[in-house]
Amino acid sequence: MFESLSEKLDGVFKRLKGHGTLTEKNISDGLREVRLALLEADVHFKVAKQFIADVKERSLGQEVMRSLTPGQQVVKIVNETLTDLMGGAHEALDLSGTHPVPIMLVGLQGSGKTTTAGKLALKLRKEGRKPYLVPADVYRPAAIDQLKKVGAQIDVPVFESRTDMDPVDICRQARVAAHKAGCDTVLLDTAGRLHIDETLMAELQAIREALQPADVLLVADAMTGQDAVNMAKAFDDALHIGGVVLSKMDGDARGGAALSIRSITGKPIKFIGVGEKLADLEAFHPDRMASRILGMGDVLTMIEKAQAVVDTEQAAALEKKLRKNQFTLEDFRDQLVQVRKMGSLTDLIGMIPGMGKHKQMKNLDVDESELVRIEAIINSMTPQERYQYNIINGSRRRRIAKGSGTTVQDVNRLLKNYTQIMKMMKKINKGGMRGLGRGMLP
Ligand code: GDP
Repeated sequence: MFESLSEKLDGVFKRLKGHGTLTEKNISDGLREVRLALLEADVHFKVAKQFIADVKERSLGQEVMRSLTPGQQVVKIVNETLTDLMGGAHEALDLSGTHPVPIMLVGLQGSGKTTTAGKLALKLRKEGRKPYLVPADVYRPAAIDQLKKVGAQIDVPVFESRTDMDPVDICRQARVAAHKAGCDTVLLDTAGRLHIDETLMAELQAIREALQPADVLLVADAMTGQDAVNMAKAFDDALHIGGVVLSKMDGDARGGAALSIRSITGKPIKFIGVGEKLADLEAFHPDRMASRILGMGDVLTMIEKAQAVVDTEQAAALEKKLRKNQFTLEDFRDQLVQVRKMGSLTDLIGMIPGMGKHKQMKNLDVDESELVRIEAIINSMTPQERYQYNIINGSRRRRIAKGSGTTVQDVNRLLKNYTQIMKMMKKINKGGMRGLGRGMLP
């Protein structure tokens, strides 16, 4: 996401930083380029114009030109203005009111509503809540089955809606059923159409009226750019939404919708969808996003992702094994699986400060298949081999390579990496970090 905008802004800032001192003209020229970059990123023209006016006012007013690092000051101001543009602080899902709290998801067909309902349910469950899913789209028969499948995947109960039921009745009955099932949050997956029409809006208004949801989230497809912004405006006018979930941000290299929605509609983006898997939902933090756009990384989101996938019990068990030098190839494989659950490596690298901007990193085509290869190699070993790597001789290596569709060199490399980890762990266990330091000296 935001790749092309990031690249363009980086170019502008490099040129600005190249000047020892900045004149008003330097800044104006730079900002003209920033405006073009925003328009190319499909940012609404009014938003781009206002953005430049804000940055200009702040830059000229803050004695940027006389500071020792004028270029750096402009970057800082752009960062702050981008953050404000996207709404300043993160706005959380509204879960206030008596249990079970209804949350309503609305949006056009194909926007990612059903997937988002599953993603939210998973997120809420991880936060200790008890979600309940409700398919309220009776027009598309497959919609009910789709949500049932999602529920089964994450072990969240789903209301038994039928296509001959009235959507308002479904929602009412579902809330009662959720209460009986001991659930505290009811996620209503409402019907979508290809276009907004009055019948759809009337139905959604009736559900809103009857259930009084604590939050109404519009799910909009980021890849549709300004259409997503128009959609947010239209749904807000008719329904008074509480916020937006921008789905498919992973496929949107431009980012126009993410940058325009708040200014145009006044409504916050609360979450972004970053993939098709149910774990691919991130809370939207304007400051972190601005930082990512400017190539300054987003360590906080990275840590949150790690916390979400790491099973604490498993982590504790692993630490114990490491301490006792019992870290087997099987543990090694489980660790890789955890890393892969955090998302694509390219995305993760973008969150490390400076890395997104790093030329080498940009050109580096992260070889995700390497992880898949390592996993396949370990899977092709016998349990005994995984526990006692030193029995893996030449003929076993050939067999493993054949079984995993890799080469003997691949198997050798994996074993070498693994034994290095083992050696390092032994040193740490023997002498703490000091032991490691000693071992590293020539
Ligand atoms: P609905 O008609 O609004 O309920 O949309 P669905 O939930 O069925 O999603 C439509 C398509 O978009 C499906 O193929 C989803 O896998 C895909 N999708 C949803 N959210 C995301 C996302 O954040 N990233 C990507 N890449 N695909 C998504």
